[in-house]
Amino acid sequence: MRVVRNVPDLVSARKEMGAQRIGFVPTMGFLHEGHLSLVDLAAKLANRVVVSIFVNPLQFGPGEDLETYPRDERGDLEKLRRRGVDLAFVPSAEEFYPPGAATRVHVEGPLTQRLCGATRPGHFDGVATVVTRLFSLVRPTVAVFGQKDFQQLQIVRRVNEDLGLGVHIVGGPIVREPSGLAMSSRNARLSPEEKTQALALTRALDEGANAIVRGERRAEMVRMAMSRILEESPGISPVYADVLRASDLAVVPQLEGEVLLAVAARVGVTRLIDNRVVTIEQSQS
Ligand code: AMP
Repeated sequence: MRVVRNVPDLVSARKEMGAQRIGFVPTMGFLHEGHLSLVDLAAKLANRVVVSIFVNPLQFGPGEDLETYPRDERGDLEKLRRRGVDLAFVPSAEEFYPPGAATRVHVEGPLTQRLCGATRPGHFDGVATVVTRLFSLVRPTVAVFGQKDFQQLQIVRRVNEDLGLGVHIVGGPIVREPSGLAMSSRNARLSPEEKTQALALTRALDEGANAIVRGERRAEMVRMAMSRILEESPGISPVYADVLRASDLAVVPQLEGEVLLAVAARVGVTRLIDNRVVTIEQSQS
């Protein structure tokens, strides 16, 4: 595996790959099986795999955890090597953005109005900007993103379409701990007690999904059922619980088709998110 740390080296490594099918997995590092499942998926869809590890300052707001975001470059590179990755791009912020960089990719409309778009102002512009620059440097055939960050995945699809970036975007399923907790780099900061408390997120999603299975179609009722679980759970500060149309994250009063259940909460100082997509068959609605 080749490791490059600056843009000129990335561009020349990419040039050497020529016209092969390139699979790309952008990450912020501290890699776990969720990330590595995306690497495996990229390897199935392409014949060269590129992974970036970059904690992008643009997507962190003031008072968020940019400085304390967990990092383990040596461990990450070892995991990628064992997974057969061809090229790892590991730039610093100074190496990644050119001096005087002043361009932002701004995404508006329903896709960014709820969930993390509402609770982390500027976050998705930071994501859209880094992904656009990464795509134009790496020029992947296919890029793989986790459904763990469902809103991010839909926004990346939108940006790719709107700017004509021409990348095939693929979503990989959420990988979970045996307990049901969605894997996240931020889980490393949870104490054993907080890891148990964090299961309130999956319980809230279960509650929402069960309400739908029982026939509830009013979005507000499902939303309230999920919120109640978060509010009642010890050690949890709810950030949001929401139910939206999965395709465009629009608010719909009456649920049908593919529905996104999404939750976010703070467990101690750690902000966690989780989601589930539920399909309501026509005949059931
Ligand atoms: P991050 O390093 O958190 O920016 O995540 C990099 C990529 O890995 C994103 O596309 C995430 O959606 C994805 N990812 C993170 N956690 C998981 C998980 N538990 N299962 C599947 N994909 C994940």
